[in-house]
Amino acid sequence: MIVLDRVTKQYPNRIMAVNNTSLRIEQGEFVYIIGPSGSGKSTLMKLLNREERISKGHIQVGKYQLEKIKDKEVPYLRRYVGVVFQDFKLLPNLTVYENVAFALEVTGQSNKEIKSRVNKVLEMVGLSSKTNQYPRSLSGGEQQRVAIARAIVNRPAVLIADEPTGNLDPDTAREIFQILEMINQSGTTVIMGTHNNQLVDEFRHRVIRLEEGRVISDTYKGDYEA
Ligand code: ADP
Repeated sequence: MIVLDRVTKQYPNRIMAVNNTSLRIEQGEFVYIIGPSGSGKSTLMKLLNREERISKGHIQVGKYQLEKIKDKEVPYLRRYVGVVFQDFKLLPNLTVYENVAFALEVTGQSNKEIKSRVNKVLEMVGLSSKTNQYPRSLSGGEQQRVAIARAIVNRPAVLIADEPTGNLDPDTAREIFQILEMINQSGTTVIMGTHNNQLVDEFRHRVIRLEEGRVISDTYKGDYEA
């Protein structure tokens, strides 16, 4: 469960990116965050894994109270909340397998466990045949699938995807929506910032619309224009 209670994020330049916003997201929900550029979508998502700190208010993400969380607990929060970005952020000198395994190696698992989990998530995203390739030899859609595999290999309760299809053509974007749908069906909460109105209308879920840092509508099975 995720709860935001009167959350404000003001950047040092005084811009109020999130303005006194309250929200509740249950475990297992699929939520789109939509709104014009600059409306606070990325900031809202960055607050949930403590990439940014809140200025005022209260955020609860699972058992973590983010206004109180200690620095040494942040790595555990980041295992609870996986993240996918528009520009993939893969490590160019590591293979597909290594990019995903890297996220697990820091958790001190055995090599056998790492191997089995990495292979399983790569199979889930349809990349079993590309494990030894480097990111530069993959298409954008394939790179995003590696990034998704990396984000879910720690079995996070929550997956945040900030504009994950922003750099992809429509067919590839649909594949990414399908993979996120499948991850959600396995019980993971998915929170996705997107401008892809067509796919938001096709894959119906809760739609939270932001404007100037505030929630201006919140509809279940909503569409992009609602
Ligand atoms: P969106 O994801 O909807 O485009 P953002 O959360 O990126 O919106 O931005 C919300 C507002 O906060 C914008 O006015 C943006 O310029 C500002 N902003 C975002 N990140 C920073 C930052 N690191 N420092 C200062 N201002 C920022």
